[in-house]
Amino acid sequence: MQTEPGIRKLVIVGGGTAGWIAAAAFARLLGERLEITLVESDAIGTVGVGEATIPQIIRLNSILGFDEHDFVRQTQGTFKLGIEFVGWSAPGSRYLHTFGDTGINLGNVHFHHYWRRHAMAGGKESLWDYSLHQRAADQNRFGKLERVGNTPMTGLAYAYHFDASLYARYLRAYAEKLGVTRQEGTIESVERDGESGDVTAVVLASGERVEGDFFIDCSGFRSLLLGQELGVDYSDWSHWLPCDRAMAVPSERLPDLPPYTRATARTAGWQWRIPLQHRTGNGHVYSSNFISDDEAADTLVANLDTPALDDPRPIRFTTGHRKQFWAHNVVALGLASGFLEPLESTSIHLIQSNVSRLIELFPRSVVREEDRAEYNRRTLAEFAQIRDFLILHYHRTDREDTEFWRYCKHMNVPESLTRKIELFAASGRLGRDVDDLFREASWVQVMLGQGITPADYNPMADRLEATQLGQFMGDVRRLVEKAVSGLPTHADYVAQHCGVAG
Ligand SMILES: Cc1cc2nc3c(=O)[nH]c(=O)nc-3n(C[C@H](O)[C@H](O)[C@H](O)COP(=O)(O)OP(=O)(O)OC[C@H]3O[C@@H](n4cnc5c(N)ncnc54)[C@H](O)[C@@H]3O)c2cc1C
Repeated sequence: MQTEPGIRKLVIVGGGTAGWIAAAAFARLLGERLEITLVESDAIGTVGVGEATIPQIIRLNSILGFDEHDFVRQTQGTFKLGIEFVGWSAPGSRYLHTFGDTGINLGNVHFHHYWRRHAMAGGKESLWDYSLHQRAADQNRFGKLERVGNTPMTGLAYAYHFDASLYARYLRAYAEKLGVTRQEGTIESVERDGESGDVTAVVLASGERVEGDFFIDCSGFRSLLLGQELGVDYSDWSHWLPCDRAMAVPSERLPDLPPYTRATARTAGWQWRIPLQHRTGNGHVYSSNFISDDEAADTLVANLDTPALDDPRPIRFTTGHRKQFWAHNVVALGLASGFLEPLESTSIHLIQSNVSRLIELFPRSVVREEDRAEYNRRTLAEFAQIRDFLILHYHRTDREDTEFWRYCKHMNVPESLTRKIELFAASGRLGRDVDDLFREASWVQVMLGQGITPADYNPMADRLEATQLGQFMGDVRRLVEKAVSGLPTHADYVAQHCGVAG
């Protein structure tokens, strides 16, 4: 009997966030059958940004078995309840895209339909007046709250901010403990099988060869294996997501440690503010068609909330993705696979979800076209869903004060997004895909926050009498205020449970 050729040697190219997440997850879940080597180049380094996350990371941490407080402490991390968007729908506007539900969903009807009915009858409160996350963010409070008392109101959903280099170090320590071999060196060439075209080895500047049966390309924007070596083209989405550069600069710590990321619209892009324990991460993401690098750097520095700790560092990118994410025996993860800009902190999530998809479809003996096609199909669908959510922020705006915003407001957008906007504007309903990363509550907040007011609401919200509705809305507000008043401040929570000295 002939034995099937097995896939035994896994080589991960790159030691940024993508490389070390892949190494940690593969070592944890397939470590018994794979010999894993990660190659990274100290001379090239990592992109060094990527410090805000979304709640799905909690699942990754739990698969890896991380202790949450230890993880936050070691990465100088903080907790994140959402993203505050300042100036996006109009100069001076502001809303929080929170991670959790708002109010209480009743009888299979989302809370925003009750809120809309209440507003159409004269209620003056905004949806966010009923949001636990918003009220906690307003007061810089954070605590663990799964549910509000014994009511149906769900508690605080959260993610983390962390220092990207400490995060990579944390993952590396974990992966090495599980047997991953780290090989330092710069890859200078790639060897391939003459017949199949599969990659067989990477060759370092030292002349050393690292052989593999399967390769994960985490080489960052270079896309060394998938893009450069295998020649897989890039699908450019910059006509929809026109920002193509960023300036990043750290500044001193924010004393109140706000439990949220802030994204402030600027004349040709937006500026992020990410509170960490030891410093604040800041960056200006912009379109080079509308503003020069010098102007972008000046805008960033002029708008810091705390003194800068360094000079702004430029980063260039093109929004979009590789036309295939898996070709031959190479899968690209992280920036090597594409980049959708950091507005909703989705890149680390994409690494995580693609790693889990790859593990689910990972070949035992030979790479099969069926697995590859399925991986490529599902990954592209996920990129496209996130793309639409991001475009919504730029496109649905009343801003016409600069050329950049006029471009965004009047650009053609994918039909899949137009359909969602029109449905929501008409009825408050969401036509989201069942497997969409962003939940209904997220779409609702961003649609409303960007200035879309639904003309109607779900008729099932009429099942409450008018007086019952008034009572319900009042009860929700009181519950929110009471729950929030019982939470510690975020700074106290961090200092007590995961402060660096704690
Ligand atoms: C401006 C900006 C802001 C961002 N903000 C966020 C955010 O808030 N949240 C989020 O989730 N994501 C964010 N991201 C994305 C996030 O930074 C990346 O997804 C994440 O850092 C993963 O990067 P990476 O590992 O793919 O690439 P990199 O960090 O660039 O790592 C590439 C690795 O490949 C190695 N390498 C390259 N070439 C060679 C070679 N020839 N030989 C050997 N090794 C090589 C490098 O040494 C390095 O180790 C942001 C990205 C940008 C550009």
